[in-house]
Amino acid sequence: MAPPPRPDSPRLSAPPKDTPAFSPDKTSVIYVLGGPGAGKGTQCANLVRDYGFKHLSAGDLLRAEQDREGSEFGEMIKTYIKQGDIVPMEVTVQLLENAIRDVNGGEGRFLIDGFPRKMDQAVKFEEAVCPSRFVLFFDCPENVMSERLLERGKTSGRSDDNAESIKRRFRTFVETSMPVVDHFEKEGKVVKVMATKSPDEVYEDVKKGMTERKFERTKN
Ligand code: UDP
Ligand code: MG
Repeated sequence: MAPPPRPDSPRLSAPPKDTPAFSPDKTSVIYVLGGPGAGKGTQCANLVRDYGFKHLSAGDLLRAEQDREGSEFGEMIKTYIKQGDIVPMEVTVQLLENAIRDVNGGEGRFLIDGFPRKMDQAVKFEEAVCPSRFVLFFDCPENVMSERLLERGKTSGRSDDNAESIKRRFRTFVETSMPVVDHFEKEGKVVKVMATKSPDEVYEDVKKGMTERKFERTKN
């Protein structure tokens, strides 16, 4: 929240930037991105097991908020998710900030899965919540992701794992989310992993990326 202007502040000045809620010295944030069905959740589980990360999935947090009794955002979230659109960032950023704080006051390693998917979210999160270390990006062709999602849809119970929603999610990914990856790529902050192989083989490449970025395993 921006503080009110002080009486002695100059009249023509840029609006003050938020100070991040968490310091990157104590809070390590890695964004995990990739198209729907690229395998983000699967690989995050591996990293939680071996590297002591906490896993926060933006989609899971939104679905929980959608189902929370008394939530004023429930209906809105439902509509956006079904359509494969990005929920207005204020909601998602706040849910993530709360979830980070709920873990040990925010100290430790966090995988933020499926976020940021739009530039405004990326800018807001870095300014107001915590600057990230890097982006772990899972690269996967649409035909492979599509097969995985339809398979998952048989049991996931997710309102958006159907052919029509999947088509829209792919479009949102290409038009809205890839620019976020490209933005961080220009800053040298993307670790790209091909996600077409088996989960174990993909994880081998993930581990190499972690080593490159100086993240040690916490368990052997
Ligand atoms: N979503 C959103 N903002 C986010 C992350 C997710 O609005 O920052 C919504 C969006 O509608 C997306 C849906 O949640 O299509 C499902 O996201 P999830 O990450 O669960 O899907 P995945 O990509 O893992 O299949
Ligand atoms: Mg997911």
